[in-house]
Amino acid sequence: MASPSPHTVQHRDAAELAAGYTRGVRLFDWFSITSWSLAMAAVAWRLAPALWESPWVALAAVVAGYLAADFISGFVHWLADSWGSVDMPVIGKALLRPFREHHVDAKAITRHDFVETNGNNCFISLAPAVACLLLPLDGAGWLFATVSLASLVVWIFLTNQFHKWSHEDAPPRAIDLLQRAHLILPRGHHDLHHRAPYNRTYCITAGWMNYPLDAVRFFPALERVVTALTGMLPRQDDIGVLAARMVAEAQAREATQAAAAQVSEVH
Ligand SMILES: [Zn+2]
Ligand SMILES: [Zn+2]
Repeated sequence: MASPSPHTVQHRDAAELAAGYTRGVRLFDWFSITSWSLAMAAVAWRLAPALWESPWVALAAVVAGYLAADFISGFVHWLADSWGSVDMPVIGKALLRPFREHHVDAKAITRHDFVETNGNNCFISLAPAVACLLLPLDGAGWLFATVSLASLVVWIFLTNQFHKWSHEDAPPRAIDLLQRAHLILPRGHHDLHHRAPYNRTYCITAGWMNYPLDAVRFFPALERVVTALTGMLPRQDDIGVLAARMVAEAQAREATQAAAAQVSEVH
């Protein structure tokens, strides 16, 4: 794909992005982590007896939750990388800024403490955590659904931690082994995302869903739909309008070529 040269990509100022982690955002992170922890302690208390009684349903639900978390991590990452601006009120500083900063300074995440790393994910999974307390547990179907949701909430919580470890030069030994087995996001695999223009390999829990999503060009197709409906250009706040336009055009060309190749295969 013809990608914009490093000179075309215009990032925002790294120091300005880092300074966006204000006292207010930190308080918000503390609130999110505390509320999430209380809700999940109650969920564990509620689900423990049922998990003990139906271990196979529990195991299947945990795996389903992991796959769903990986997909959602990619989807939210794509949303936050591609749309909106750090200048937007509230969500700009609290939710979008970390994604913009991460492309300018990928190692910054390794210097973030526990609160800064995990606050956002606790906030977005607060409502599903509360839902795990309200959903029924009777019958294998409901048990599977509720445990899957609880598993999803736990893996979403761990996603930024897995992501942070994938950027560390020397993660703890046990983490290194999990990365090598590709049970959590491996370092080399996530490097594929960190190349301008940052338009692929978005999933950051395990990274397993990146293979099918990249193969079918899922996110570029979604971007064309959003642009057709709204006229918005993806990534313009992250890499500048010129580079963003070049990427959109290159992706459209790629899609046309792939469709043409499929047609000629059929004939
Ligand atoms: Zn990104
Ligand atoms: Zn990263």
